[in-house]
Amino acid sequence: MAKSLDEFSLIQRFFKRSLNDENVLAGIGDDGAILVPDAGSDLVTVIDTLVEEVHFPTRLSPDAIGYRAVAVNLSDMAAMGARPRWMTLALTLDEANEDWLEGFSAGLFDAAMEHDVCLVGGDTTRGRQKVITIQITGDVDSGRSIRRSTAAAGDLVFVSGTIGDAAAGLSFIKSDELSSDDNQYLAARFCRPSARVSLGQALSGIASAAIDLSDGLYSDLHKLIDASGVAASMETDLIPLSASLTRSCNDDDALHYALTGGDDYELCFTVRPEDEQTAIMRAEQCNVHITRIGVVQAGRGLTVTRAARRFEFEHEGYRHF
Ligand code: ADP
Ligand code: MG
Repeated sequence: MAKSLDEFSLIQRFFKRSLNDENVLAGIGDDGAILVPDAGSDLVTVIDTLVEEVHFPTRLSPDAIGYRAVAVNLSDMAAMGARPRWMTLALTLDEANEDWLEGFSAGLFDAAMEHDVCLVGGDTTRGRQKVITIQITGDVDSGRSIRRSTAAAGDLVFVSGTIGDAAAGLSFIKSDELSSDDNQYLAARFCRPSARVSLGQALSGIASAAIDLSDGLYSDLHKLIDASGVAASMETDLIPLSASLTRSCNDDDALHYALTGGDDYELCFTVRPEDEQTAIMRAEQCNVHITRIGVVQAGRGLTVTRAARRFEFEHEGYRHF
């Protein structure tokens, strides 16, 4: 966008909020943000882009777009066991529509304020379609971050929350089938995913590995075990499904959403058997339900069983290219 009063006032009006963080020496308004890391912490940085019509339908409410843009990054921070602190926003817009910006910034700050994250800078440009990139920097006590590459044979595989809701919700948003309470619940799971930030931090030092579920359970657990150089098996009957999902879909569709649907932003993590009870207790303290769905094994590859029999299904996770 050409430098203009419009761009300046757009930032002032929708994105500049007073900061209450003594670790931010300069935020929006200078050429760069100046952030002071705490001694004894490692910085963790994540970035995620949402492209109109790729990651969200154009008709999705601006509030949901803003909320999700932050939540998907919070979820990456959660998977690392880190505390999210500061974010920047690169915003490409087809037009400076004030109503859209009002809703978008409200959703964005809702998600940010739930986790005390401040917006410290960004960039605003014009383009043919909406593209929203958010980068979050956070911290974790030195050496305490959780990786996806450190699962070992014998570890137990857990997921948080319920799986498959968001993908079902997105399909109901697209087909405009939102009259029932169940479908609305599922749509809200897509629009306002609950990034498991406190769970991620509570699992630091307990989980042997973790990944967040953005592309689908099968594909994301596969990434975790590949990165760790191990195999795993999971049992479909153990995958936690919400009552709304099982009421809104038949069993096969529900399972399909759970295994291959993305956008849940729950955590999938592994723990050593001796740490299982601690993990369950810590999750309870965070008010998050966790469920054991499988086990890590020596070797390579992910085996899915249904009622203890090998289960074959189409399992391409989302790939951009
Ligand atoms: P520069 O020309 O130095 O890149 P800009 O005019 O692009 O600066 O931005 C001015 C200030 O506003 C900078 O501090 C930048 O970080 C901030 N900013 C720009 N766009 C956004 C946005 N969408 N959200 C938050 N801060 C923004
Ligand atoms: Mg700029």
